[in-house]
Amino acid sequence: MPLLGAIADDFTGATDLASMLVRQGMRTVQLIGVPQPGTHLPDADAIIVALKSRTAPVGEAVRDSLTALAWLRQAGCRQFFFKYCSTFDSTEAGNIGPVADALVDALDAGFALACPAFPANGRSVYQGHLFVGQVLLNESGMESHPLTPMKDANLVRVLSRQTDATVGLVPYASVSRGAEAIRSAMTQLKEQGRRYAIVDAVSNEDLFAIGEAAAHHALITGGSGVAIGLPENFRKAGLLQSEADPGLLPEIGGHAAVLAGSCSRATLFQIGKARQHLPTLELDALATPDAQILAAQALDWAATQLGNTPVLIAASAPPDKVAALQDRLGRDEAGALVEHSLALIAEGLVARGVRRMVVAGGETSGAIVQRLGVQLLRIGTEIDPGVPWTLAEGSGPQLKLALKSGNFGAPDFFTNAFALDAAK
Ligand code: ADP
Repeated sequence: MPLLGAIADDFTGATDLASMLVRQGMRTVQLIGVPQPGTHLPDADAIIVALKSRTAPVGEAVRDSLTALAWLRQAGCRQFFFKYCSTFDSTEAGNIGPVADALVDALDAGFALACPAFPANGRSVYQGHLFVGQVLLNESGMESHPLTPMKDANLVRVLSRQTDATVGLVPYASVSRGAEAIRSAMTQLKEQGRRYAIVDAVSNEDLFAIGEAAAHHALITGGSGVAIGLPENFRKAGLLQSEADPGLLPEIGGHAAVLAGSCSRATLFQIGKARQHLPTLELDALATPDAQILAAQALDWAATQLGNTPVLIAASAPPDKVAALQDRLGRDEAGALVEHSLALIAEGLVARGVRRMVVAGGETSGAIVQRLGVQLLRIGTEIDPGVPWTLAEGSGPQLKLALKSGNFGAPDFFTNAFALDAAK
């Protein structure tokens, strides 16, 4: 019987959370999209439903999240987690606030903490302000994200704009005093009628303490970081057994490819490094704004390149080029065109024998797994914090996939990923 049921607002975010839970000893499976009533219950300690609700219309995001919650409750999960990005990716309309409101109501929880901090990946929250490395969120590059530009680093303010409920803060002064102090700060806020508390955290130690303080919360909301302390709660309660390697996956042969649709600084840098080692194709959607033609050109190119070395196909571009395509097509249309092109390319690559694939970009990963008919990911070993190899199952052949949120991963991520897989 699963213990933890999570709802993630995008695919890579779900994988990031899954990876954290595997590292902390939970066998974890990620389901792609809202589970259907007949979906069979996988054998796992944690089940994460990966939605594409971050940028969906708010009504759809709420509806899908509630359906996922109902399924997870029926599956027997005891505690629930709403996972969003560690950079709090959202628009003025949501969707973090409205989805959290709906989940709090459905669970009759009354209160939920909100903590996107993930210090291992450079995301920390101090006095309610989110930092990426040493700079505030709104100076980190996130202010020009193609879909969810983050122009305010004060999360109490950001979340307040997305909900009618009131938002409080558990400041670092309380967090640094440990689980008991955090628990009592949260109780106070709840008694004052606050529905949410942004909780400061600048280290893993803080996150463990927050996890311990939330042991009896029906719902926890945040990034994957704050999930770090939850498995221990289940272990202490005698509900979670220790596994030798909860992330062991079988070996899979076949060609390998990297597909990149993220325009984040980290991904652009990773592409720059990888192109020195891998055959690389840059898609030019401005010159060819047609997904079918772009995909056909890329697949023709790939046919001549597939072999022992992974191929790299990237739509990713710096802000000025992104802006040029968006000016021409509109923001959503530009994103959709690129996502559709990469999804068609992924499908074509699998038909040509690619069985191991790294994908960069949250929305991009969502589009690709949907196109490939992937229904379930069993979570394996981590390549870098938040990004594991996974075993994908669905309507097509079994695949190894690594789905990377744009900002994640070391500079050599693309080459490291395949080296790690080969070493296993
Ligand atoms: P991240 O994880 O960095 O947020 P995503 O894949 O979620 O990456 O989002 C990046 C968005 O940018 C996608 O919708 C993608 O289609 C779009 N995109 C990628 N390349 C370009 C480009 N050259 N011009 C405009 N939009 C692009």
